[in-house]
Amino acid sequence: MTPAYDVAIVGLGPTGATFANLCGMWGLRTIVYEQSVAPYPQPRACHLDAEIARVFQHLGFEDQLHDLLTVSAGMDYVDGAGQQIFTYEGFERAPLLGWHEDYVFVQPEIDAMLRSGLQQYGHIDVHLGEQAPSLDELCQTARYVIAADGATSKVREQVGVHLHDLGYDERWLVVDLTIHDPVEPVLPSTIQQVCDRSRLATFVPSHGRHRRWEFRLADDEVVPDVWRLLAPWGVTSDHGVLERAVGYRFHALMASPWRVGNVFLAGDAAHQMPPFMGQGMCSGIRDAANLVWKLAAVIHDGNDDALLDSYESERRPHVEAVTKLSIEAGSLLAQLAADPTAVPVADTPDPDRWSRLPGIDLGGDFPVGHQLPQPDRLDEGLPDGWVWIATDEHFTAPDRHPIVVEPRATYGCIAVLARPDRYIAAAIR
Ligand SMILES: Cc1cc2nc3c(=O)[nH]c(=O)nc-3n(C[C@H](O)[C@H](O)[C@H](O)COP(=O)(O)OP(=O)(O)OC[C@H]3O[C@@H](n4cnc5c(N)ncnc54)[C@H](O)[C@@H]3O)c2cc1C
Repeated sequence: MTPAYDVAIVGLGPTGATFANLCGMWGLRTIVYEQSVAPYPQPRACHLDAEIARVFQHLGFEDQLHDLLTVSAGMDYVDGAGQQIFTYEGFERAPLLGWHEDYVFVQPEIDAMLRSGLQQYGHIDVHLGEQAPSLDELCQTARYVIAADGATSKVREQVGVHLHDLGYDERWLVVDLTIHDPVEPVLPSTIQQVCDRSRLATFVPSHGRHRRWEFRLADDEVVPDVWRLLAPWGVTSDHGVLERAVGYRFHALMASPWRVGNVFLAGDAAHQMPPFMGQGMCSGIRDAANLVWKLAAVIHDGNDDALLDSYESERRPHVEAVTKLSIEAGSLLAQLAADPTAVPVADTPDPDRWSRLPGIDLGGDFPVGHQLPQPDRLDEGLPDGWVWIATDEHFTAPDRHPIVVEPRATYGCIAVLARPDRYIAAAIR
């Protein structure tokens, strides 16, 4: 029997919701199961980057984003007195991708935006407040199943995939405050990594009135009084509403493999990393951007199913690299607390750090494997599929893909071939 749906998605967190919107955009008949009725009310992620903003732009959310995002002012490592030890070198490349490199936001607002986007698609059936059925039933219902059911994924368990420890396991207290007045108390404008021997901490000046602290806890420590932890920041209970103070274990875990038959793991179900670079949710959204156009190519255009194996081979090395960076960024707090002179040697700035698919050979040198630049909202004028971006109108494509002339987006080549996810697959010099 032909399954009634092309895709079944389990979970409507940020990963599943981005998958569902992209399936909507690509015309894939999709069924979504989400056990909760409303988005998770507490913020977890509060940072996203240019690539993610661009994915959201592609999904038609640009107008909402102007209200939901604040450009981040950067990240400092400071000592216990708040004195700067080291500034994490920004890799701001705006307007390379058409967006700033770093934004802060309030996750439930972004989750609500993503859910609202699904209403426009008649071919996306969302079952809220419903546990996903058994894996057998899911596989009968849809040709492909996406497990976006989070860190404790049942689907991952059912397909027998294990998580590997990448070597990070710490207990931290996450504190969220909604402040009454954005200018009082005066708090730092940059993200602060506090390298204080007596208590490692992170502060994030988030979007709107949301402020986030994370405090390192000893494994057996009783959770301390939150207001005492906030006192050195000049924050008292008069300044705002304590939304939550919850202990988390920050992990670095990787599932292997990410594909079993027609089931794909994505987001936290496939990988988890400590939050010091603010990349966990971003990674799940990259998973969706990488896989959905390939599903459409197989389902609508009859491409070989083997194309879908490139999901893991392209995404996994990137997630591993970002996880390693996140572990290093977290470990640096303790190192600098022990020895404030142990500042890392400045790397040569790498403006394309995030724009690459590391370890991936798409068959050519730079800029192959990098993201297509986006001058002047270039994406808005591009067709959804593959497209040549050429320096001038004399370019003749070696295939039947359409051509758009935009010399500022070719990295100096005569033309570049952009995939539907706006990564460059070929370049002509
Ligand atoms: C303190 C903290 C700070 C963080 N900061 C950042 C940051 O700044 N930037 C960043 O990018 N990331 C950050 N992260 C990571 C980020 O929050 C997660 O990576 C992201 O939320 C994972 O999204 P997801 O959709 O994969 O999973 P989830 O958000 O966990 O969603 C899974 C969904 O699946 C549903 N579900 C589960 N099982 C079933 C079932 N059987 N049937 C139906 N539905 C089911 C759940 O109800 C849930 O809605 C942070 C995390 C923490 C804890």
